[in-house]
Amino acid sequence: MPLCPHDKQRLNESASGFDCPACGRQFGNQPVCPECVQPAEVLKACGAVDFFCKTHGMISLSRVIVS
Ligand SMILES: [Zn+2]
Ligand SMILES: [Zn+2]
Repeated sequence: MPLCPHDKQRLNESASGFDCPACGRQFGNQPVCPECVQPAEVLKACGAVDFFCKTHGMISLSRVIVS
């Protein structure tokens, strides 16, 4: 599950994507690489979620942008 880029709270899944319980912002469900701002792939393994950019490789949860 992605984190809110504003307050690092865990986002709740909603019908249209994700929303933040702390600040109330709503996000689409597309994680984006913070370096190239291109859509990142979601990798799920062992209960953890990581993100992968074809150009920049693995992106940690704390760095990924959810737009
Ligand atoms: Zn937030
Ligand atoms: Zn990238």
